[in-house]
Amino acid sequence: MALSNRRPILIFGSTGQVGQHLCELLGSQAVGASSAMADFTKPDTILNTLQSTQPAMVINAAAYTAVDRAESEKELALQINAIAPGLIADFCASHGIPLVHYSTDYVFSGKKSGAYREDDFPDPINVYGKTKFEGERRIENAHGKYLIFRTSWVYSEHGHNFVKTMLRLGAERESLKIVNDQTGCPTSAHDIAVATTRAIDMALGTASFPSGIYNMTGSDHCTWYEFATDIFASAKRIGFPLIVKNIEPTTTAEYPTAATRPLNSVLNNDKLEQKFKVKLPSWHKSLQSVLEKIYEN
Ligand code: NDP
Repeated sequence: MALSNRRPILIFGSTGQVGQHLCELLGSQAVGASSAMADFTKPDTILNTLQSTQPAMVINAAAYTAVDRAESEKELALQINAIAPGLIADFCASHGIPLVHYSTDYVFSGKKSGAYREDDFPDPINVYGKTKFEGERRIENAHGKYLIFRTSWVYSEHGHNFVKTMLRLGAERESLKIVNDQTGCPTSAHDIAVATTRAIDMALGTASFPSGIYNMTGSDHCTWYEFATDIFASAKRIGFPLIVKNIEPTTTAEYPTAATRPLNSVLNNDKLEQKFKVKLPSWHKSLQSVLEKIYEN
């Protein structure tokens, strides 16, 4: 990483899916801050961490990601997804430090028929999406150097995610119904970490820091049903002891959840590719390596 001094990269959310992969990739260049060190509901702990670390760059991978629970914990989600990132952005802007932050496909309503581009107007339909959009807005308004990467459907061998839920359910049940009318782009947290470090390198090598919002998802899209079908087929080939036999497609209407989810949240990644020469692999390919890592563990 082309940072010109020996100050570290501070990673908030170092225990999350993306945060863990960033820490693994950046090694001794990074200092990870967990919620025990910097609690986003306690602004003084964030500022203390920033001041004591004196980072050359900040990556914020922390977020309130419980999409359904956010509907009943609006204030908490707003604090973690918007107010705290705004505070970090103000600190970074006033110290001339670049800030890297992650946002979500759920800033969109899903009513568009094609893939969403960065300049499509956000119109979130759930609390999580609204608070993440507010986080983006506050970072932009700090007027510092920033990169906001919008990603989606994140999975990894670390943490909680759809892949691990499917492996658990597939080991417990012979029949499953999976939603087949929500389309998005599954994205490996490892691929996000690799793409992030490459984009940062490019950004730091540019005369004028390319602040902005960039979509960053796995190539190819699918429905949750298609994703699950592939997870089960691949996992069986690898040797996972699954008993699931019947996987039935269902609709969002038949599977009500606390939070409304966009039916189409496919993101177009052209801007990321053009600006940073970065393209994430297809989710099919990355899924294999994540499943193999889960199996080995
Ligand atoms: P995870 O849910 O895996 O991890 C969230 C991280 O945030 C954890 O390290 C957690 O720490 C930290 N965190 C939660 N509450 C607090 C708090 N009060 N103070 C400080 N830290 C806190 O997230 P992902 O890695 O999946 O997500 C990374 C980014 O990508 C986020 O910005 C997310 O919004 C975005 N994104 C994620 C998607 C997904 O499918 N997961 C989809 C689209 C975007 P602790 O372990 O201590 O609780």
